[in-house]
Amino acid sequence: MADLLIPTDLLPLDGRFGCGPSKIRREQLDHLLGFGTGVLGTSHRQAPVKDLVGRVRAGLGELFRIPDGYEVVLGNGGSTAFWDAAAFSLIEKRAQNLVFGEFGGKFAKAAAAPWLEAPDVIKADTGSRSDFVVRDGIDVYAWPQNETSTGVMAPVTRVAGDAGALTVIDATSAAAGIDFDASQADVYYFAPQKNLASDGGLWIALFSPAAIERVERIAASGRYIPEFLSLKNAVDNSRLNQTLNTPALSTLLLMENQIDWINQSGGLEWASARTQASSSVLYDWAAGVDYATPFVADPTHRSQVVVTIDFNDAIDASAISKTLRANGIVDTEPYRKLGRNQLRIATFTAIDPEDVKKLVASIEHVVAHLGN
Ligand SMILES: *Cc1c(COP(=O)(O)O)cnc(C)c1O
Repeated sequence: MADLLIPTDLLPLDGRFGCGPSKIRREQLDHLLGFGTGVLGTSHRQAPVKDLVGRVRAGLGELFRIPDGYEVVLGNGGSTAFWDAAAFSLIEKRAQNLVFGEFGGKFAKAAAAPWLEAPDVIKADTGSRSDFVVRDGIDVYAWPQNETSTGVMAPVTRVAGDAGALTVIDATSAAAGIDFDASQADVYYFAPQKNLASDGGLWIALFSPAAIERVERIAASGRYIPEFLSLKNAVDNSRLNQTLNTPALSTLLLMENQIDWINQSGGLEWASARTQASSSVLYDWAAGVDYATPFVADPTHRSQVVVTIDFNDAIDASAISKTLRANGIVDTEPYRKLGRNQLRIATFTAIDPEDVKKLVASIEHVVAHLGN
């Protein structure tokens, strides 16, 4: 099967449909080679790199239309490090964690730290989602805006809980691909290797004034906090356009170009319309053929940036993804722990909606020749 050749006119121009690291546009690499030569290999404590960090912070502020008083904070270690940082630096006593897939589950695990009360975990079956429940004693309400393991999307809406309770959103695979109102979250955190089409290694977060106040209060409380996981440290360094330790400069440069591209193309609204168009191509196609169906049953839960399509038993989805891979269309396999007869396809902002149409044509070609 894997030696089946898909006709060239059916192939997407760019075959990267993975959920992270994900497609990087050619112009971003040109930015690395051009502008980057003055920055790569130079000190992160000097003006060229600090100015780059400053431009990235300002560009993200513009992209997300952050309200007055919100700050763009960054640090090393990706979103996974942010979960541990949040356990040390953001959760005062107890978090409520919505879990409807792997990533929400990982934050819930981090929030089960011994110095905190056990988190209030509200689970939903994979392919669906859970909703928050306002409860006394919860000081952080947390959920993913986009659960990358299943392709389920959730709204960003502030929780009116106890006075001072924070709404904390994992936007790793949503940020810069799904429109939302930044004033509805206290912490909106993400990493750059998804819709921002960069490389991994950093976490970035939009902090509300209430979130900054919380971080400062916990830092002053005498709680033991490792320096690397101190959000107070990250806030202080970010205000100086630097990070505690050395950041990946290429990651910052690739991200800068992507932010500029989106801002110049029409901003978050434009990016959101583009991912909606791309994902609709796939959902409409799956609804129209008899051998495939969207995994997420409720259309209002379906992600516009990560599309999961189940195949019926007569068709082996792994044979499709293998054949696609042999033809240069990569990373359409389902999330490894989900174990379904499925394709998972990113429709991130960098991915051209025309290429998504070509992908559908390629999948149809492979299905038509399966078993021949
Ligand atoms: C990819 C992803 C993460 C993990 O990001 P890292 O930067 O690899 O730590 C966390 N949450 C979600 C929703 C993701 O999609």
